Amino acid sequence: MINKEVYTTICEEVKKHEATLVAVSKTKPPEAIKELYDLGHRDFGENYVQELVDKQALLPDDIRWHFIGHLQSNKVKYIAPFVHLIHGIDSYKLLKETDKQAKKVNRVIDVLLQVHIAQEETKFGFDEQELHDLLSTNYGHELVPQQAGLRELKSIRIVGLMGMASFSDDEDLVRSEFKKLKNLYHKYAQLQLGNCGLQTLSMGMSADYQIALQEGSNMIRIGSLLFGKR
Ligand SMILES: *Cc1c(COP(=O)(O)O)cnc(C)c1O
Repeated sequence: MINKEVYTTICEEVKKHEATLVAVSKTKPPEAIKELYDLGHRDFGENYVQELVDKQALLPDDIRWHFIGHLQSNKVKYIAPFVHLIHGIDSYKLLKETDKQAKKVNRVIDVLLQVHIAQEETKFGFDEQELHDLLSTNYGHELVPQQAGLRELKSIRIVGLMGMASFSDDEDLVRSEFKKLKNLYHKYAQLQLGNCGLQTLSMGMSADYQIALQEGSNMIRIGSLLFGKR
């Protein structure tokens, strides 16, 4: 079921860029995941809570599960006990809820802030100003880290940013959107303290991962290239 040749090729590209490949297995059966697992792969991404919970129960415990979809606050509790990384944090409310649920299960959960970089209005994420308001207060030209409220969230760690480029054949547009995200990532990577230290830049999917890697991505999320069309 898995395209092994494509898998090998992508692994080589990822290694060259010192990046991580998240295999996006949404809508695909547990057997397909097991196939890739048996080749040594451990990072898998899902975007529906119920589907993730069901698969997690069936598959080996050492899989690192990435939640890459739009997460509703009232569903965080279902994935909090085991999720490895939540990519799509797009509001302060969701951040607070993740902190609360992580505390309940005695964990510290790593999260990425999703940034809206595409032209499509339908995509989720913080815009530049919202990101700024969340992560820093401006004193002249200096970045002064973190709103007080954020500092209190001791059961989450903000470890990076995530974004999706426009769904477009226009390579220049896609590249410029990735550049924008990378610049924000570098800007806020200066803030290394407490529960905030950016080290992960999650950008790039089947259609645009090569551009993303060229533009500095260190985590790509690939579904259809590996598992076939959904
Ligand atoms: C589905 C999905 C992917 C993978 O998409 P492909 O085009 O199949 O590689 C990556 N990121 C997110 C957020 C997704 O929802």
